[in-house]
Parts: sequence; C-alpha cells; structure tokens
Amino acid sequence: MAVPAIELTGLAKHYGSFHALDGIDLSVPEGSVFGFLGPNGAGKTTTLRILTGLAQATSGSAKVFGTDVASAGNEVRARIGFLPDVPGFYDWMTAEEFMRFTGSLFGITGTTLDERVKALLELAGLSDVKARIGGYSRGMKQRLGVAQALINAPSLLMLDEPTSALDPIGRKEVLDMIASLAGRTTVFFSTHILSDVERVCDTVAILDRGRVVAQAPIDDLKSRYGAQKIVLEVTSAADALAKRFSAESWTSAVERENHSVILTVNDIDAARLAIPAAVVAEGAGLVRMEGGEVSLEEVFVELVGGER
Ligand code: ATP
Repeated sequence: MAVPAIELTGLAKHYGSFHALDGIDLSVPEGSVFGFLGPNGAGKTTTLRILTGLAQATSGSAKVFGTDVASAGNEVRARIGFLPDVPGFYDWMTAEEFMRFTGSLFGITGTTLDERVKALLELAGLSDVKARIGGYSRGMKQRLGVAQALINAPSLLMLDEPTSALDPIGRKEVLDMIASLAGRTTVFFSTHILSDVERVCDTVAILDRGRVVAQAPIDDLKSRYGAQKIVLEVTSAADALAKRFSAESWTSAVERENHSVILTVNDIDAARLAIPAAVVAEGAGLVRMEGGEVSLEEVFVELVGGER
C-alpha cells in the first residue's frame, strides 16, 4: 500500500476545556484533490496549522508522507506547499519579484528559479502583469498565493479556504488552477463552499465541531445518501399520497412537485414495501419510482445541519 500523503490518527487539539479537534482520523491518498469541508469553527484551520507545524496537537498524530510533522525535519517540510487563509504579500513587489523572493527563501536559484517562476506565473495567468501586487484584485492575489505555494515544487499542496473571499470569476480561476494540478500534486484544501468541492475534488472529508463525520469519494457519499431519497411519480392522488406518507415514521421529509412526490426516507426497506401498497390503496397508477439525485449540499446539511 502506498503511504498516504496525509494521515491523521486520533488528532486532538484542546484550548483549555474546549476541544477544537476531538480525535480526528483522516487519510488523504497521494495524487488526490481532497476537499476538507466544514462549517465555520469546525476545526479546519486548526488541522492545517498542525499539519504545517504552526501549532502543536494536544494528542494523536499527524503524518505527512509517513513522517510525523511534530518531529519532521526540513526534508518533509520541503515537500509541502501552503497557502494560509489570510496570506501576506509585499504590495510594493511585482508578481515576478515576489515569486523570486519566495524561491530564494527555499534556496532555489539560477535556471531552476527562472524556469519555475516563468511556469508558475503562466499557470496563475499573471505572466503579462507588470503592476505591483498592491494594485491587484483579490482573485489575482489568490492566484499568486497558489503560485508561490508551488515554488518549491511540493508533493503536497495545502490551501486554507483559497476561494472564500472571491467572486464567482475569481473562484473559477483559482479552482481551474487547482484542478490543473490533479494527478501531479496532492492537493488538500479546506472550504465551506460545497460547489467548489464538487467542481474539483475527487474525495472529501466533512468536519463538524472537531470531528470527522464523513470521509469518502464524492460519488460514494452521494450514492450512500442518494439511496435515502425516493422520487415517486403517479397518474393521480399525489396530494393524498403525500399526506399519507407524511404521517409515516419512515419518512423524514415529503415534497410535492406536479405529479410527483419526493420523499426523504430514513428506512429504505420500509419505504419500498409501503409506497407501492399506498399507490394501490389510493387507486392511482404508478408511473415511476426511483432513487433521486442528491447534491453534496443535501449530504452536508444532513450530516452537519442539526441543532447547533
Ligand atoms: P472558519 O471556517 O471559521 O475559519 P475553522 O473550521 O477553520 O473555521 P478553526 O479556526 O480551526 O475553525 O477553529 C476551531 C475552533 O477552535 C473555533 O471554535 C475557534 O474559536 C477555536 N479556536 C481556534 N483557535 C483558538 C485559540 N487560540 N484559542 C481558543 N480557541 C480557539
């Protein structure tokens, strides 16, 4: 088995009696674009700070390519690129100057530095921009931020909410940049924007109040929860059926739409038995009965949307 790019085992971070992270287990396969999803305060930044050596865990372990980050030397750190949630730039520099400066901090020089700076400015769509960073839009700054995090050609790129402050166009450009890294660099990025995750990630973990509540390839997650949704189309009596189903203990939500009833069910076996019988009892014809498409947003709300 290949060593995971990131492996968290029982990772906990306590601030006094408050458990910001409450024993997280997580495995990020090498080569994946992994979405670390969670509402505000879930513990995403705390996890990234521990992974990058900026904070210490209370207990548990955080490994990058098999090495514990708490005891990792420069060899491991050199394989990581990081863009924090509020990145700092030197406004008076141009993008090229900033990239060269960042490269020099890693000891990168000569033609290697020239080539990397050129390729990364192209990737960020900033090759022809000669203005100083102070005059950049947020989107341009964020693309530059991703580029500088790649200057050391990292095997693992970690990004903390890289799209949160951006408009739709800025978000798309940063996401396109991230997507273009798939298969070359493992990308681990935190966000609370579900559509971003659906757009570029292959695997996702959902964090809530310091705990991982789900971790799976996006398609698996959707089909696991999609099975709990049933779309029923009938020739007549949709209202009566909706009323009947609302009173059943195996339904958690019932919606009406034209000749259809859309049910969210908590006991799929009971639903499959009861629904056809109810259609017959109402004297209606059954046009179709199938598992409905579920969005990542519905899965997210289902998992973290309870009483807060
Ligand atoms: P957001 O999306 O809002 O950035 P997050 O998922 O990144 O949220 P964290 O910043 O990791 O969440 O914070 C997790 C919890 O830990 C929050 O409730 C936060 O208030 C708390 N926390 C973070 N840092 C500290 C600290 N230094 N002292 C006390 N509590 C803290």
